[in-house]
Amino acid sequence: MTETSGGSPERPQFGESFTAHMVTSVWTAHEGWSPLRLGPHAALCLSPAAVGLHYGQAVFEGLKAHRGADGTVGVFRPEDHAARMADSARRLSMPPVPGDMFLRAVDLLVAADQDALPSDPGLSLYLRPLLFASEANLALRPAREYTFVLIAFVTGGFFADGPEPVPVWVSSRYTRATPGGTGGVKFAGNYAPTYLAQEEALRAGCRQVVWLDSQERRWVEELGGMNLFFVRGSGSGAHVVTPPLGGTLLPGVTRDSLLRLAARLGYEPREERIAVDQWRDECAAGTITETFASGTAAVVTPVGTVRYGEEEWKVGTGGAGPVTLALRDALIDAQTGGSRSPEGWVRTVAPRR
Ligand SMILES: *Cc1c(COP(=O)(O)O)cnc(C)c1O
Repeated sequence: MTETSGGSPERPQFGESFTAHMVTSVWTAHEGWSPLRLGPHAALCLSPAAVGLHYGQAVFEGLKAHRGADGTVGVFRPEDHAARMADSARRLSMPPVPGDMFLRAVDLLVAADQDALPSDPGLSLYLRPLLFASEANLALRPAREYTFVLIAFVTGGFFADGPEPVPVWVSSRYTRATPGGTGGVKFAGNYAPTYLAQEEALRAGCRQVVWLDSQERRWVEELGGMNLFFVRGSGSGAHVVTPPLGGTLLPGVTRDSLLRLAARLGYEPREERIAVDQWRDECAAGTITETFASGTAAVVTPVGTVRYGEEEWKVGTGGAGPVTLALRDALIDAQTGGSRSPEGWVRTVAPRR
């Protein structure tokens, strides 16, 4: 989720200024989903007793549309985001938005607002679907009315001059997810509890929090709202390692894309647990040569240094490594519909007439 770039007139701040339209639909137990409505981006009319505000029945997604070299706008893996949002909804006892409805909403909004996306290849249109309980009723049970909203904004994300490595902070005090909990889905309530840890990281001079597992406080899980990757070795024989999903990690679409692209580039993709002390020791020994984070907003962000209590270590040279950069290039290429984009990853949206 995390956007690492700052704002400027040409590089707008993440999630601050929205496009002109939004798409909405309301679900009720009686009628199911109402027809999708494309209208102006505007405030919602909401009861102060809306369940989503009180008991947290709210899930969201984040996906991007990019302008390809031929000028057309394509959305990256929207079917996978639709499927994940349905999983999130089921975990929170909410009616899943059907996949075809999710795609039609994306098509409607992107068609209406694609002129907001300049031809600058460093910019993309970030789409934010949200599903929340809008029934006015404070009973402790799943709501009987839900609202689906899709909004969008233009954002940066990748730059020709390459990504800047970030210093990261391993939190010993806070954890993000517990087995059997909600860490594996994009549940709104997963995010506010991370702010205190993020403040702790900032006070330590770091930019992001490394989450350890909540049982042993030992296994590296994620970085802020991003998945983490480790590179072992170098060159074409390098291993690209990421922790396995197991309910406490968010199954990133970017994570999955990078695992597949790694194999295409001739690296060996692996899902393997890495302990924090192992990360430190393997960096010192030169076995782990690179570490980076991945997510829709941040694309691929290299990790330069790690702080863990009183300890501090550098990953590789402390700069963006060659495997990180190769994977990032391949991902950007895939997102903009370049020749390296695997079949079916980009959904082209025709402009509205
Ligand atoms: C959204 C998210 C990610 C990244 O998922 P993508 O599909 O790659 O954007 C990783 N971790 C957390 C906690 C997230 O919320």
